[in-house]
Amino acid sequence: MTCASLSKHYAVIGNPIEHSRSPFIHELFAQQTGQALRYDKIKAPLDDFPGVVAAFFAEGGCGLNVTVPFKEAAFVLAQAHLSARATLAGAVNTLWMEQGQLHGCNTDGLGLLHDLERLGHAPANKKILLVGAGGAARGVVFPLLDGGCAQLHIVNRTAQRAHQLHQHVISHMPPLASRLSAGGLADAAGSWDIVINATSSSLGQTPPDLPAGLYGPQALAYDMVYGQQPTPFMQQAEKQGAHDTADGLGMLVGQAAASFAIWHGVTPNVEPVLHALRQHLRSA
Ligand code: NAP
Repeated sequence: MTCASLSKHYAVIGNPIEHSRSPFIHELFAQQTGQALRYDKIKAPLDDFPGVVAAFFAEGGCGLNVTVPFKEAAFVLAQAHLSARATLAGAVNTLWMEQGQLHGCNTDGLGLLHDLERLGHAPANKKILLVGAGGAARGVVFPLLDGGCAQLHIVNRTAQRAHQLHQHVISHMPPLASRLSAGGLADAAGSWDIVINATSSSLGQTPPDLPAGLYGPQALAYDMVYGQQPTPFMQQAEKQGAHDTADGLGMLVGQAAASFAIWHGVTPNVEPVLHALRQHLRSA
């Protein structure tokens, strides 16, 4: 996608937005790939996301990253031109204008897949437990199945939401049904190769209330939340015998790289930007 504007303007839009690292990441990608651009943070009022998006593009804006709580609203706005990933996720984190039409994609799953590969835990043939059924979980279910995992079990505090997500995916892709299941947190029991925490529980300093004994030999515990210290979920997993633990900073940089590739037609190198962001977080 090429943007016709002379001054290429991008932004991340959410509410709250102060915490967002997206400008840091995209500015480093731009330096790395020789793109001239401006990347801002936009805090949209909760009751006027469509109005702010319309004004941004009317003023010549080229692309938006969308974060909490607007990913589902972005899906509705771009519903005439959605990527398959966005359709399966029911949520959009990347918007752009093409021939006067708003387009949407969801790159969260690509970011996660890239990070799992970087960590030496590519999903192919793995048994994966996905904890959570909110927007973040919706974005990664299809990419994990598409990545060839042997089994994907979704569990959520509100079990009904896990069942709804399960139904949503198999109604779009019936052949995936044999590898996908769902339940409440208590139904998580098993021996898993990868356990992904896609809940926001770590933000409240508590891990999700999962049964013990989830980690198979060589297992990875992955928390989509990230921070200066290992998250409560990572700490719990380490105590319970997970071989490896990781936070979601690599996923964040990976999803940004996939958005950058859509907008600029060039895929940046994730590794140096991830390193710089980790250093930046540690010194903050
Ligand atoms: P969301 O739509 O608000 O969903 C929140 C999820 O967390 C729901 O499944 C909710 O369960 C669950 N939850 C919240 N508190 C819990 C607790 N104490 N115990 C167990 N489950 C709990 O949020 P989201 O958009 O999915 O985001 C989830 C997290 O992923 C956020 O922290 C976000 O920052 C992070 N994330 C990271 C990346 C990245 O690139 N690293 C990308 C996307 C999201 P109920 O349904 O029962 O309420």
